[in-house]
Amino acid sequence: VLWSYLDNFNYKGIYMKFSEFNLDSKLLDGIQSTGYENCTPVQEKVIAESADGSDLYVQSQTGTGKTAAFGLPIIQNIHEKCENVQALILEPTRELAMQTCTEFQSFTQGAYPRTTVLYGGASYSTQIKDLKSGCEIVVGTPGRVKDHIEKKTLDLSKIKYFILDEGDEMLDMGFIEDIEEIFKHANPDCRILLFSTTMPSPILKIASEFMGEYEIIEEEKRPEEP
Ligand code: AMP
Repeated sequence: VLWSYLDNFNYKGIYMKFSEFNLDSKLLDGIQSTGYENCTPVQEKVIAESADGSDLYVQSQTGTGKTAAFGLPIIQNIHEKCENVQALILEPTRELAMQTCTEFQSFTQGAYPRTTVLYGGASYSTQIKDLKSGCEIVVGTPGRVKDHIEKKTLDLSKIKYFILDEGDEMLDMGFIEDIEEIFKHANPDCRILLFSTTMPSPILKIASEFMGEYEIIEEEKRPEEP
């Protein structure tokens, strides 16, 4: 279902092409290497909104291209070597964290930004080595990210972007307290993008506590066949 959905609008070219956005040429090369040409609906909206830097609550399902929707503006803006972590992406599972990290790396042409992944059940020493050698973007699961903050091996005080992905799943998996704790250690001035299929009250509470004013983006239904 997902692929026919994506093929459908790619073929018809209903949505904007990535090349129509003001993205730098290196990033466009990265996008081209993945074979994407037209945005998905959520990508078009989130990339367009990214220009003014407001916080967003995006109601979007898995499989709609939301990883690139939040990833591309981040990679566009963090393209140089930095001393501190610039972006945090929280994912509910190890698989999603690895997948997101791989997708970020596939868009990155050149040495920066460096994206690393932190999840439970893996050795701390490799992760600490990666963090110490420097990275601009961290993708992780809430438990392990919180552990690294406690160990002082991860500093989020300078981040510019905080992405909370799969809000509903985070709630189902009991991660809300960990997430609140992570937010308390993050730069209060960072831009926050929250992705969740629905708007359950614990997720809305996180939004009102940490996001201040935010815009809500709802995903459009797929256009009807003519
Ligand atoms: P996601 O919702 O981020 O998990 O993306 C779902 C799938 O759609 C992934 O396998 C992506 O590789 C693919 N995808 C994302 N954006 C596009 C696009 N603009 N054109 C074609 N495929 C895409």
